[in-house]
Amino acid sequence: MNTVKCPTCRQPAAFGSPDFPFCSDRCRQIDLGNWATEKYVFSTPVIPTGGEEGAPLPPDAGEED
Ligand SMILES: [Zn+2]
Repeated sequence: MNTVKCPTCRQPAAFGSPDFPFCSDRCRQIDLGNWATEKYVFSTPVIPTGGEEGAPLPPDAGEED
């Protein structure tokens, strides 16, 4: 069983299909349309920078008892 997931709808796409790796021509067109409209933007993830400390602070469980 050679199937992969359609990049557009995540449905199984049949290996060897003319629309492979998409499940259908519709999904292929959608994917191409996404590229054409620059829907796939390489946006940088917003990472909150609270300082230059590389290690995250440990949970508040360091209370000496
Ligand atoms: Zn699909």
